[in-house]
Amino acid sequence: MMSSEEYSGVWTLGEVRNGEISSVSYELLAWGKKLSEKLEERLSSVVLGHNIKRKSQELFEFGADEVYVVDNPKLEHFLPDIHANLCEALVREYKPGILIASATTYGRTIMPILAARLKTGLTADCTELDIDLKEHILLQTRPAIGGNVMATIKTPDIRPQMATVRPKSKRPLKPDKSKNGKLILKEYSSDLYESRYKWLSFEKDESSDLPIQESDVIIAGGKGMKGKKNFDMLYDLSKMLNGAVGASRPTVDMGWVPYSHQIGLSGKTVTPHFYMAFGISGAIQHVAGMSSSKIIVAINKDPDAPIFKVADFGVVGDALEILPALLKKLGKGERNE
Ligand SMILES: Cc1cc2nc3c(=O)[nH]c(=O)nc-3n(C[C@H](O)[C@H](O)[C@H](O)COP(=O)(O)OP(=O)(O)OC[C@H]3O[C@@H](n4cnc5c(N)ncnc54)[C@H](O)[C@@H]3O)c2cc1C
Repeated sequence: MMSSEEYSGVWTLGEVRNGEISSVSYELLAWGKKLSEKLEERLSSVVLGHNIKRKSQELFEFGADEVYVVDNPKLEHFLPDIHANLCEALVREYKPGILIASATTYGRTIMPILAARLKTGLTADCTELDIDLKEHILLQTRPAIGGNVMATIKTPDIRPQMATVRPKSKRPLKPDKSKNGKLILKEYSSDLYESRYKWLSFEKDESSDLPIQESDVIIAGGKGMKGKKNFDMLYDLSKMLNGAVGASRPTVDMGWVPYSHQIGLSGKTVTPHFYMAFGISGAIQHVAGMSSSKIIVAINKDPDAPIFKVADFGVVGDALEILPALLKKLGKGERNE
């Protein structure tokens, strides 16, 4: 067990995808900023990658006071044990009080290994992070018991306090071009780069053109769409609006849409500018994944459907009549009439 007094500062674990700093790294800084300001401590990011030193400096504009970079050809592909070795070495040397990562494949892989090695706790998939100002500790909130309660978890004695947050659960801060910081370039001995894994290839999920979490417009359908064929209209509309198709869980379970489109507690969290829900009731488990969308439009034939409680605009009506009319109005509705 590590004594908590020696540990301070808030760290975010940045991610590199295809040689670029990925957007979750900026989202994490927005979470980290809130925590570090409340604690009045420094905010730092860790970036492990190849040819990444220059790009890592962008993290300063998004809130980082320091960025710890390990830049090595052996980090070109993601081999979990190497990344865990380097993170562990950094944490043991610099002793952050809090370490947060995104609940992506990367974060979900590294953080448990790291927590086990550091003998500390880890709360996965948080929807809210805050600071208990009296005790100066991290409050890690996540849905529990099938999403029926929100549990707030603390790590009072052991450091670092570790949590993952869902990607897209916060928007990045506005970049401040004038902000600078300290880049700490670290090198480690070759034994930390030994891996039990061998990189074979990267297989892209071809089931959706634009991943829903990257899309600013989401056209989502639920059981009220009545069948797989009717989802074609959602695809048509999403194409016209340059968006992506989202779905509720039952439509995925029934095989109308691939799982990569599922939004909600057991699917993805999204924060688009525009979210349109056709025939979705608005169950708590669905709303958990989309309620931070900027503008929500709901179309449902039941005026008491809970989705209307989170919607900015609501239409009480039959989705299967409204959608063809909308497509026609927008100019491409002939095939669905
Ligand atoms: C642990 C757990 C995790 C879960 N995770 C998720 C998750 O990640 N995502 C998720 O979505 N759900 C999740 N669920 C399921 C969730 O509880 C709901 O069952 C689900 O969201 C309901 O989907 P729906 O709105 O498509 O269907 P329904 O609740 O059946 O709603 C259909 C809606 O369509 C309306 N409707 C019917 N016909 C029409 C029409 N012609 N035009 C317009 N409206 C019409 C109805 O009025 C109704 O409101 C989870 C549940 C559990 C227990």
